[in-house]
Amino acid sequence: MNTKLLKDTPEDLQTAADLLRSGQLVAFPTETVYGLGADARLETSVKAIFEAKGRPADNPLIVHISDLSMLNDIVTEIPDLARKLAEAFWPGALTMIFPKADCIPLVTSGGLNTVGVRMPSHPMAQKLIQLSGCPIAAPSANRSGLPSPTTARHVMDDMNGRISAVLDGGQCEIGVESTVICFDDPETVHILRPGLYSVEDFQPFARHVYVDKAVYTQIAPDAKAASPGMKYKHYSPNAKILPVDAPDFNSFVNYVLSHQIENTYCLLFDSDPEIEGVPCLHYGDDGLHQAHDLFFRFRELDEKGAKLVYVRMPRENTRASLSVYNRLMRAAGFEVMKL
Ligand code: AMP
Ligand code: MG
Repeated sequence: MNTKLLKDTPEDLQTAADLLRSGQLVAFPTETVYGLGADARLETSVKAIFEAKGRPADNPLIVHISDLSMLNDIVTEIPDLARKLAEAFWPGALTMIFPKADCIPLVTSGGLNTVGVRMPSHPMAQKLIQLSGCPIAAPSANRSGLPSPTTARHVMDDMNGRISAVLDGGQCEIGVESTVICFDDPETVHILRPGLYSVEDFQPFARHVYVDKAVYTQIAPDAKAASPGMKYKHYSPNAKILPVDAPDFNSFVNYVLSHQIENTYCLLFDSDPEIEGVPCLHYGDDGLHQAHDLFFRFRELDEKGAKLVYVRMPRENTRASLSVYNRLMRAAGFEVMKL
């Protein structure tokens, strides 16, 4: 299959929408990361997403919509709290879990009776959904296990020859996937996966807000997870990622200098100085910038042939920093070097 690279023009967007309507797979930019889309109602097309990614069949897909009338078509119940959050955060980087309607097949929901739904804010994503008229099932457009793609070239690196087209919208603004939440009861927000939005952002709307333990710790592959995606090793480049929890920069440097192997790299904060004798990349000083850069740097490290990467631990665990901490820990298989 020849994968077309499409641009942000009315003709190319129409081509992408037509491909989706005819059951093909099209990758597209969102404000979080690139998604690999198919009509969420078509079993065969959704199966093709799982094949193209090499994704386990029990890991459900998020369905993307462009307006609230589409939500009514694909879910059977919308809690009041979800309506309030939709008003506050949609379009945007928030995915909410609802009981699914019959038009969403079990392949899309990974066998669950619920479906995750998001209304993205990226103008190209919105246009694509509107033009196609389809609710679009779209996981991140990487091969399963690899870092999520934040540019069209990353998508091509993983998916060239496997899918019909990629819409190029430049680099994604946020850089990590959406926040995924479900509702344990009418007043409780349960965060399954942190993203740009976290506990602090939902507190004004809900009596209780809490983060699933799978965000902080590795859960067994055979365990029953509230969010099946959290069971799998994820987001990791080929290089081994080792976060180093050091009291200060000097102790980080001392550790690195005495524990180098062939092709050792460091991933530092922007404000950290270079380390003589060890090649370094930088990934921002605060949660927002780190989220934006993290997956991009992971892919860059692989391109440079890194074998081992010592990473400075994010300083905080709030808001976007929690998503950075979570992706970093999962890329590292939850192994940390604590000094
Ligand atoms: P990705 O498509 O790669 O962004 O991953 C989607 C994430 O959303 C995974 O971690 C899934 O486990 C989670 N997810 C999607 N749908 C559901 C659902 N119905 N229930 C719980 N988690 C879900
Ligand atoms: Mg993914």
